[in-house]
Amino acid sequence: MENCLFCKIIRGEIPSGKVYEDENVYAFRDINPQAPVHVLVVPKKHFVSLSDIQSASDGELAACLRAVRLIAEQEKLENGYRLVSNCGPDACQSVPHLHFHILGGRQMADQMA
Ligand code: 5GP
Ligand code: ZN
Repeated sequence: MENCLFCKIIRGEIPSGKVYEDENVYAFRDINPQAPVHVLVVPKKHFVSLSDIQSASDGELAACLRAVRLIAEQEKLENGYRLVSNCGPDACQSVPHLHFHILGGRQMADQMA
């Protein structure tokens, strides 16, 4: 996707604070962190959101969750973390490339929204 912000980050056309990369996944620090650790985990293939994963392979999807586990370990989130994927306008998704927010390093609110 030529003009997608996260595709440009994955291609290195826009700088990012990379924390992890493998064949299927790229992960980087959120530019506007909502917690001491706020990492975005994105599949390298462009999908708009979880509503758009019909053509994603199980391997590509599982790679995102396996990356989350590795990054949580790397970021020393042994006390826990929250994983969020905003999907569509009701969830205020602002970047239309599937991504998972890892939020940690502090106590999260006990209400999710
Ligand atoms: P959403 O609102 O779609 O769930 O999350 C998009 C996230 O991308 C937001 O938390 C926002 O701060 C982050 N973001 C937007 N533009 C950039 C950018 O250019 N670089 C980085 N690292 N994060 C960005
Ligand atoms: Zn994209």
